[in-house]
Parts: sequence; structure tokens; C-alpha cells
Amino acid sequence: METGFFQFTVGNLQCTLITDGKHAYADPKALLFPDAPEAELASELAMHGISADNWPCWVSDYTCLLIDTGKRKILLDTGAGEMLPEAGKVVENMRAAGISPESVDCVLISHAHPDHVGGAGYFPDARIVMSHREWQFWTGSPTLPRLPDDFRNLLTGMVSSLLAPLRERVELVDGDTEIAPGIRLVEAPGHTPGHMALLAASRGEHLIYAGDAVIHKIHIRNLQWSPLVDVLPDESTRTRNRLLSEAADNRAVFVGFHLPHAGKISRDDAGFAWHQLVV
Ligand SMILES: [Zn+2]
Repeated sequence: METGFFQFTVGNLQCTLITDGKHAYADPKALLFPDAPEAELASELAMHGISADNWPCWVSDYTCLLIDTGKRKILLDTGAGEMLPEAGKVVENMRAAGISPESVDCVLISHAHPDHVGGAGYFPDARIVMSHREWQFWTGSPTLPRLPDDFRNLLTGMVSSLLAPLRERVELVDGDTEIAPGIRLVEAPGHTPGHMALLAASRGEHLIYAGDAVIHKIHIRNLQWSPLVDVLPDESTRTRNRLLSEAADNRAVFVGFHLPHAGKISRDDAGFAWHQLVV
């Protein structure tokens, strides 16, 4: 998104994708598709114009979603805040879209990873909502068996320092929760144990914010190739299947924090296919 934001409607809901920035991740094959068979992955990558032998880094978009119901402004995820030099632009791009950050009533956090919770401090007066299960996981002794020690220590340290200032103001929810009429937070575990997604409907039109349940477009055709950072890879696969099925059945606009833009999902021989709203 060249302008830093993109607006569309879902029924009566005015929706804005807001770019927080981008980040380059090293060793993307091991990070995104650790369990994928080499030859199958090479052919999937080739379909996306990527050479399996020469893919040094994956440049990921960071995309927050703002839903204006007419009465309330609800922000999904907050970006990386001060954590990364090329991110933390959610407030700047929100203003570019003509939306004042002070007008955001409610901030929903899909999960506690730093790229999603890092900007929560930019919205000091908003209600902040996240999963109770997610909060308990990260403020307890999180087990992250798939991650190498240095990555695990870095991640848990960052998450604890970001969650600590939110302790007094966060509202923790258990299970599926209605946020506003027609707008529901739903359990979508796998990427993290308390990961949540959002389903919205208005006047027969539908919207899904998947957070990190679908990180890369290749996961849309290959549900079983869970990323390395997914704490519960099998649950992650089931969640992807459920959200993508719902998106295909309801012709929903589908948004993921790391996907390049909003899209629609259809079923095809391989499973699901992605159709970007604007290329
Ligand atoms: Zn993320």
C-alpha cells in the first residue's frame, strides 16, 4: 500500500487497512515452512516467483485493521511500536487516512507477539482487549519447544516487557466474545495458545481478521505447513482450515497482519486460493 492505508466497506462497516511498516525476516524457509518437503516447497515458491535456492529474506508487511461501526472505532493489533526502525508507523498512517488515534475506542490484540502488541501504548485511552488464555500463557512460564534457545529467550523477554505496562488496563476475555453488534472475537489457537481472530458481518457482507493464523499466502494452499513460531502447529492447521472455510463460504474480505493486502478466498483443487482485492 503506497499510501500507507486502504479503505473499503463491509456492509455498514467502514474498514481501513493501516500499514505499520515492514520487516525483513532472515532464513524464511526455516521460519515459515519448517516441515514442508523440499521439492513441494520449491514448486510452491516458484509459483510466487521465489527461487528456493536464493531466498535470503522475507519482507513482511505489518497491517493493522481499523473498523469504524459509525458509533465506535475498533483497532485490530497495534504494530511493533518502538521495537523496529522500519515499523511503528500505525499512528502516522492512521492520521494520513484522516482518522485521529484519540478517536479509537477499543484495541483488540490478536496475540501477544511484539509486532502486534508493541504499539498499544499509542492508544492510552482505548479499552484494550485480549484473550485470558494468551495473557496467562505469556505471564506464566511459556513453553516454546519448537524455537531455538536464543530466539525463545529474546521473544519471551520482549513479550513480558510489553505486557507489564498493560496489566492495569487490559480486559481479558474467555472464549468467543461479542465486541459490538455483529462483531465477534473468536478463539483461533495454534500460532499461540490464546490467539484470537475477528469475524464481522453487516448487511449480509462479511469480514475476517485472521491475525497470524495465516502468515504467508503459501499457507492458504498448504494448511499443514505451520510456521516455526506456531506454538501448537496441529491446532494452527485446524484454525487455518476453519477460518479459510468460513471466508470462502461467506465470501468474506480476509485480512491477515502479515499478508500484503486484503483478499477474498475461494476453494480450488488444492484447497483454498487467494484473490487479492487490489494488486
Ligand atoms: Zn505477527
